[in-house]
This record gives sequence, structure tokens and C-alpha cells, in this order.
Amino acid sequence: MRTPERAAAVVAGALALGTLVAAAVAPPARVPNGFAIVGATVLDGTGGPARADAVVVVEGERVKAVGSRAEVPLAKGLRIVDGRGRWVMPGLVDAHVHFFQSGGAYTRPDVIDLRGHRSYEEEIAGVKRRLDATFARYLLCGVTSVVDAGGPMWNFEVRDRAARTALAPRVAVAGPLVSTVARPQLDLGDPPIVKVESPAEARALVVREAARQPDFIKVWFIQRPGDDPAAGRALLDAVVDEARRGGLRVAVHATELAGARIAVDAGAAILVHSVFDQPVDDAFVAAVRDKGVLYVPTLFVVKGYDLVLSGKFVPTAAETRLGDADALRSFEDIKSFAEFKGTGRSTADAMLKTGSENLRRLAAAGALIAAGTDAGNIGTLHGPSIYRELRLMAEAGMSPSQVLSAATLGGARVMGRETQLGTLAAGKLADLLLLDGDPAADLSVLESPREVIKAGRILSHDELRRAAGLPAH
Ligand SMILES: [Zn+2]
Repeated sequence: MRTPERAAAVVAGALALGTLVAAAVAPPARVPNGFAIVGATVLDGTGGPARADAVVVVEGERVKAVGSRAEVPLAKGLRIVDGRGRWVMPGLVDAHVHFFQSGGAYTRPDVIDLRGHRSYEEEIAGVKRRLDATFARYLLCGVTSVVDAGGPMWNFEVRDRAARTALAPRVAVAGPLVSTVARPQLDLGDPPIVKVESPAEARALVVREAARQPDFIKVWFIQRPGDDPAAGRALLDAVVDEARRGGLRVAVHATELAGARIAVDAGAAILVHSVFDQPVDDAFVAAVRDKGVLYVPTLFVVKGYDLVLSGKFVPTAAETRLGDADALRSFEDIKSFAEFKGTGRSTADAMLKTGSENLRRLAAAGALIAAGTDAGNIGTLHGPSIYRELRLMAEAGMSPSQVLSAATLGGARVMGRETQLGTLAAGKLADLLLLDGDPAADLSVLESPREVIKAGRILSHDELRRAAGLPAH
């Protein structure tokens, strides 16, 4: 509705340009190609207060304006999306996945060897065959960006494929893990994990990966009893130094406090996984916070292994609806195999408890947290496992708005793209979710986004379901 004030402003503006006649003969205004979500409550991803009855204008692939109805005038002809009674927020970012793993039981022969039932070659072929479906599954779950935290060199092709696929999330990747241990069972000629014996070998691997322009370098930093911490530090120093020469950040897998401390001291930008072995101390918390290290807790993944390997995995409603059917079936199939012991992982609950308490402390201290699932590992399904992870983060004691910020801005920071992604503001890429309820009041609202918007395009649920290999509604 045009208010008298605004009509007056238009007249004044026209006069300022010259005369009313000049304004009348000017070419007609272009009909804008975007749309406006009008009347929704905006959660901008920063953790700041919600903004009710707002207008979000999307033009091209970006957010053009966000504000109140008075602040954001609507151009004539602009398509209106009714946001009344709804919430709009940035798309979710899963800051830790592995596309080379399916989430099913056959995907980690180094953990449970089921190659007598399905060869690893066959498993990988299936993973590659279903890649487009996996992409679509993420979008159906409202996950508009993912970070692949390490895999074979063909990870870079996954990123390229996602970039040219309309129904795919944005994908950031690391290459093969620079590792202190080997995993020969996963080596089909392009191993996801490469053991390095010396700082020089570590540098050489970083150089080889840097040529493919990874989004970061990932180190699998396993410190076993008896390992020399100084040697571990020297290795990390070499990786961080070589990565910096290539303008790259380093993410370190260190699930024990001693290793995590070495990683932070050595200049890791990202800690993937929680400290699971013991409570973090004040010095560690302060170092993580003050150095701006991103902490990606992956609380569910260890429990995921435990549930599948103990035969107790029960899919959530979202996993039943949206999870990979082959992976879900595998959890049932293996129960009749001789290799299946049904013993699970006895340490999983203790690790989850310690990891949760450490997350609570780090979040309360103001450390930067990002939500990541480690999807692809056995029991952690691509797509819907994000909901398990967010629930565990909330149960650990993070506030709902902290959790939502970790799942948006936090992930964008892991991608190194926080100036473009992860928050809802003018000028940012329009990766958005339109929701039927308030996710800060109830995280389960995220499980059925009304609309998923990527790069300014409202995606069709039917198209996404077809791409994901799911039956139509
Ligand atoms: Zn991982």
C-alpha cells in the first residue's frame, strides 16, 4: 500500500531529478527478477534477536535488502512470497561430511570388514553413482552448503560436480588426510588417508594437494601412547607452514586434549571433532577462543557407529523419510552376518558425555563453534543426521540461537566464506530456509522446511525428491 508519505517522497524524488514530465517519459522501471518474502520473522544467523514482520528481498543470487516493511519498499511487479506466520533464516551448513563414505555398514572396512558381502570397490562405485542423489538429499534437509573434511583426490571432482549441478549444495573440500597412521583397507589407488613419515613428506603431500586448490588442508593427528609429542608438533608445524605458503588453513582431527592442544599451539584454524577423552581446562578454552579456532564438535558420529555395530540403530523420522535407503538397509542386513558381533563401541557414551560437557564450556566461553556431523561414517547419514547433531548440541547446553548460529555462520566460517554465506543480510548470497515454525523454540521445525532457497532460487520439492531418488509426495 502506498502511504501519503511515500507518495510525497516519490514526487519529491521526481522533482529532484528534473520535472514531473521528465519522470513520466523515462523508460519504465525494469520488472525485478527476484522475489520478496513478506511478513516472516527473520533469524539472521548471527545469534542476534529475531526480527518480526520483516521483508527480505532477493534479487538474482543475492539478498538485496532486509528490514521492516517501512524500511524496505517493494518494487512494482515484484513476486511476493507470503511469510506471515513463518520464519526465514540462512540455509544450514554441515561443516563436516565425507562424500567418499555412504553412511552405510560397508563403508569402513578398516572398522568392520564386510568385504566378503560387498567389495569396497562396489561400495565406492555405489557412492559415486548416488552422488547426485546425495546432493539433493542435503538440500531437502535444508543444508545448502557442506564441507567435505577429507577424502580421495576425486573429492575435487565432487566439488566441481556440485558447482555445476543445480540441485546440489555448495561444497568445500579438503583432499586426502595428511595422517600419522595408515588405512590400507581404504586404498583403491587414490587413498583418502595418506600416512606421512616425516615433516618433509607432509610438506610434499600439502604441495600436491595445494595444486588442486583445496578449501583447507586436513590432518589426521593420532597421538598414541608412547608417541613423541615433539615429533607430532614438528609434523604439524611443517603442515601449517606449507599450507600457509599456499594461502591455506589447516584443520586438525585431534580427539584427545593433548593432541588438540598441540594442534592449537601449532596454528590449526579448525579443530574437527571434540576433545572426547577428558575435560578441557581453562588454558585450552582460552587458547581456542583467543586464537579464533573453529571447533566442530561432531557429537553424534561415535554414537552412530555404536548404534549400528550393536544392532540398536533406530532411524529417526527424518532419516526414514530422507536417508539413503541402501545405507539404512545395510544396518539390518549385517545383523545376520558372522562378522557382526553386536558389541557396539563401549566408549561411545562416555565420549559423548565428555564431548558434550567440553562443548558447553567452550560455547559458554565464547569460542567459535560450527555444527558438523561427520556424515558418511557408519550410522551418520548424509542429510538428516544434521538434526541429530543439532539436538545433541542443544542437549549439551548451547542455547537454541547458539546452535542455529553454529549451523549457519559457524559452518560458513569453516568454509572460509563468512563474508558471503551463513548470515541473512543485504549483499549475502541468498541461501535461505522458509520455515513453518520458530526453530529457536523447536529445532525439529528444521526437519520440514517449507521452502529451500539456494542462490536466490526457490527449489521445487518435487524436483529435489526426484533427484534424491525418493518417491514423489
Ligand atoms: Zn571426518
